[in-house]
Amino acid sequence: MNYDNPSSLIQLTIQSLLKDDNLAISSLKDIPDALLPSLFLKAHIQGCYKTLKAIVLSWPFERLPLGSLVHDRAPENPSFKAVMDGIDVLIKQKVSPRCRLQVLDLQFTGQKFWNTWTGSHLQAYSQKRELMSEGTSKKEKATPYLEVCVDLYLGEEQVDRFSTYLLNWTKKRKGVHLSYKTVRIHYLTRKYFRFLYAVSCCDIMELGIHCTLPFSTLRMLANLLGMLSNLKRMVVCIKIPTATTPEKAEWRLLSINNFTSECTQLLHLQELYLESPSFLKDHLHCLFRCFNTSLEVFSLTNCRFRKKILTHVFQSPCISQLKDLCLKGVPLTSVSKCLRSLLEVNASTLQHLDLGLCGLQDPQLEVLLPALSSCSQLRSFSLHGNRLSMATLEKLLSCTSGLSRLKLELYPAPLESFSPQGVLQPATFRLHCTQIIKILKDLRHSRSIVVSTGQCSSCAEKMFRNGEPIILPCKSCVRKFKKLSIE
Ligand SMILES: [Zn+2]
Repeated sequence: MNYDNPSSLIQLTIQSLLKDDNLAISSLKDIPDALLPSLFLKAHIQGCYKTLKAIVLSWPFERLPLGSLVHDRAPENPSFKAVMDGIDVLIKQKVSPRCRLQVLDLQFTGQKFWNTWTGSHLQAYSQKRELMSEGTSKKEKATPYLEVCVDLYLGEEQVDRFSTYLLNWTKKRKGVHLSYKTVRIHYLTRKYFRFLYAVSCCDIMELGIHCTLPFSTLRMLANLLGMLSNLKRMVVCIKIPTATTPEKAEWRLLSINNFTSECTQLLHLQELYLESPSFLKDHLHCLFRCFNTSLEVFSLTNCRFRKKILTHVFQSPCISQLKDLCLKGVPLTSVSKCLRSLLEVNASTLQHLDLGLCGLQDPQLEVLLPALSSCSQLRSFSLHGNRLSMATLEKLLSCTSGLSRLKLELYPAPLESFSPQGVLQPATFRLHCTQIIKILKDLRHSRSIVVSTGQCSSCAEKMFRNGEPIILPCKSCVRKFKKLSIE
């Protein structure tokens, strides 16, 4: 222990306080606000639950992000119980001079708070950015004394125990508002709809649907969508059975139309992720006709669309100010001119572009190059899994070398590295890597790129942690990625 370091002294003080719950509790009034998060964190780690409960009564911040500390989401988790006991005392005594607690945050986010106030290094749970509330909800509601924010997960078994517990807990207390910010649906039955209608739909900011749905359930889901007036992020990974009779085909079409038209209600949608959306194959342009919003993120993956439909979608005004565009696994060979226009429209805002596994070849890249070089905000760019020659790669490297913010570039190994049967020739590949290094040196621009010899669709995910881009290939592909850098 370094005694000259004030932070070590603080840690030492906290350590000695926590040896005795009574001592810690009686000293709380003398501990400055800025140190309470550190004391809370240590008390949670060391299981000093009496102290934890007492800190809640003195919590000097509006938000207590407990969800990022308690991963075991069970009502009997001792840290969770201690905090809820503390809140019960708060509710009963109404006034506590020091306490400013308004939101108990049980979502998995909130690592930033602990890292800022305690100097710890909690990893962010999700690579997606944190969604912010509009801040108007307080005025609209009858100023709840406390808001409890939580994520809802609907799986095969039943509504999870934790959510049911919280719903009952809040029902029994006045002035407490339970707010589901994120809802992830992996299984959907009529019973779940009863539960979903019971929660306050206008609190939901993120909805993820990952399941197979019969037509009738899709229609019910569409009705629910119409109520999510504050939804900001939607992840759709829905499978719909194909129709076996003309009647069913009609019913199926009706359900899909219902779904796309209810999307008009999503006025605050910022991020749309459509994962393998084959049910929207002939309807994607209808969905885009409905949107009345300007998206920041549009991700459409692993699905084949007709040229006419993609052309329609790419011209939509709601994707004219994108920060993030991902078209991974969508064949784009026939729409390169339209894609060029889309890039041109978004050139001043686009930060992340993923065109991996899009079947692109030299002629299409030739069309895209001028638009690419004008994307001045671009930070990450992937062309993983396309079939490009060494000559095109050279042009690409030169055209992107002017993009000063670009930190993550993922390119396919040049076509010449493979035999006519498509087998990688390691010696030739090494030779081409040497050649690429030389090209980078000649461009006189310090940079580091990743070249991949693989064609896997599940890997080459771009990840942003603390603003720093990193690449995480899947386990079986890790050897297929080669990083080439020059200083
Ligand atoms: Zn892989």
